[in-house]
Amino acid sequence: MRIGVLALQGDVREHLAALTALGAEAVAVRRPEELDAVDGLVLPGGESTTMVKLARLFDLLEPLRARVKDGMPAFGTCAGMILLAERVVDGAVGQETIGGLDITVRRNAFGRQVDSFEEDLAVDGLDDTVHAVFIRAPWVEETGRGVDVLASAAGHPVAVRQGHLLATSFHPEVGGDGRLHRLFLDLIG
Ligand code: GLN
Repeated sequence: MRIGVLALQGDVREHLAALTALGAEAVAVRRPEELDAVDGLVLPGGESTTMVKLARLFDLLEPLRARVKDGMPAFGTCAGMILLAERVVDGAVGQETIGGLDITVRRNAFGRQVDSFEEDLAVDGLDDTVHAVFIRAPWVEETGRGVDVLASAAGHPVAVRQGHLLATSFHPEVGGDGRLHRLFLDLIG
């Protein structure tokens, strides 16, 4: 199973390491040909507006939209969650996304002053809590039908799943807990 990590910006290395540790073949994706060659894709944390700009520049935005629409499994963390969201509030003016996940996200939702924190979260499908790291994180403001909420913080969903798409507001690639990446790999089958 070959899993790509969108490698335009953000914490690409951490995701490659997390996937490799689980025995997956993990590759960086920067070009359309590289995207064609993967069975699933991780969208890392970073800066969502920058990633969309770079995706356009690298002629990846439309291919990404097409593959997600076609059913390619994808896992977005933090900025990656924003990229998968159909709708963004509090985004940059006219902020574009890849879309596919029927959610509305609020960018930088947890506030700008103390905008990073850690919390032990119960996640649906995992036996034990996850130590979740939030860094200028979004939360999910609205979910469409067909979206399952797997975890919440401050009364808002922070981990969701819809079919082949998984997204978290926090960074499971930080801290060596591979269980959410495992969940993603299981989703691919
Ligand atoms: N605040 C960032 C954004 O809007 C996301 C932060 C992160 O990925 N840690 O894209």
